Amino acid sequence: MSLKIMEKRPIYDYSPTERNKALLSLGLPDFIEKELDKWFFRKKDLDQSKWTKISKEHKLLLNNNFDFNLPKVVWQGLSSDGTRKFLIGLEDGNSVEAVAIPAKDRLTLCISSQVGCAIGCTFCHTGTQGLTRNLKVYEIVGQFLAVSQWLIQNVSKESRLTNIVFMGQGEPLHNFKNVKQAVELFVSQTGIALSKTKITLSTSGLVPQIEKWEEFPDINVAISLHAVRDDLRSQLMPINKRHDLKRLFDALKNIPLRTSRRITYEYLLIANLNDQEQDIEGLCELLPRKQSKINLIPFNEYPGSDYKRPSNEQVLWFQNELHKRGYTCTIRVTKGDDILAACGQLKTEFEKVNIWDGQRVSPKVIETNHYE
Ligand code: SAH
Ligand code: SF4
Repeated sequence: MSLKIMEKRPIYDYSPTERNKALLSLGLPDFIEKELDKWFFRKKDLDQSKWTKISKEHKLLLNNNFDFNLPKVVWQGLSSDGTRKFLIGLEDGNSVEAVAIPAKDRLTLCISSQVGCAIGCTFCHTGTQGLTRNLKVYEIVGQFLAVSQWLIQNVSKESRLTNIVFMGQGEPLHNFKNVKQAVELFVSQTGIALSKTKITLSTSGLVPQIEKWEEFPDINVAISLHAVRDDLRSQLMPINKRHDLKRLFDALKNIPLRTSRRITYEYLLIANLNDQEQDIEGLCELLPRKQSKINLIPFNEYPGSDYKRPSNEQVLWFQNELHKRGYTCTIRVTKGDDILAACGQLKTEFEKVNIWDGQRVSPKVIETNHYE
């Protein structure tokens, strides 16, 4: 019974079908899978002493063949607006950030898909780091589970993350296979069982991957547009040199939209660069009114950034002009910028910490000005 039969892999790296096969191959009875789902995904409790329906022998077999570790919350900070930023420590000493953003009727977790990012947008703090590596499936799912667990243990037993946005560090479609498998687990009824409508993936516009979108579970898509002219978009987002606006919009036709759903276009507003009348006209030419939602993001400044945020009046004017032209257009309220948790500010501001060798080291905070 105590045999190690398979190569030991993180259990959260298995798809539901793969895991089912693996459990069968270990000769474990059917109810074990349901018990694991209950403890992992519904109760989010990994204290095995509570798994009383699973015998000691079966636990031994499970522990010999699966790795149950989750990435760990090594630091968290609470912003004055209720946004909570988590630093998640990974096995190799790298870390990524996840941000829990409360709203009236939901608690959204903004998660990372990579350590750093290769796309190198000139306005993005994360982009300045370059890419270190893709996150594994269990590290993506693990952000959700680790933060859920932390909230249950430290805030309230009733705490529940309701939505997920892939808007943390990294370009999710650059890590297509792992992000796709993680999303499958997020929406699976035997997994985390979130509705597909509660998950949004934001992409800078990787055309070859958008062309394969039908392989993905049918979640919401947000496109980081930011400019309506190729020259300006290429200046802001080097990816536009390879996949320009024409190629991007041709590829977007592959995204099947259900009647009630639209593509969201994120539009960063940078003072005197893309916040003028001509940009509004350009947006109207590019975006079909009925199938588009525009989300304006006033640029979040960070230490060393070259661009400036427009005035609030300018942002409201821009929104109003789009409303007048019949567009649904919202302004993203900046959340958590006092702890550098807002969009584009996510860059690991901490020394690398290795918490996997049994040592829990407090990360050194280099640059935050308000945290718990
Ligand atoms: N890589 C993906 C998802 C992560 S970025 C993408 O680019 O879409 C999430 C959002 O934050 C994107 O729309 C991105 O353009 C925006 N963003 C990046 N830097 C920003 C900044 N400094 N201020 C405001 N938004 C920013
Ligand atoms: Fe990467 Fe998105 Fe930042 Fe661009 S905006 S560098 S794609 S994380």
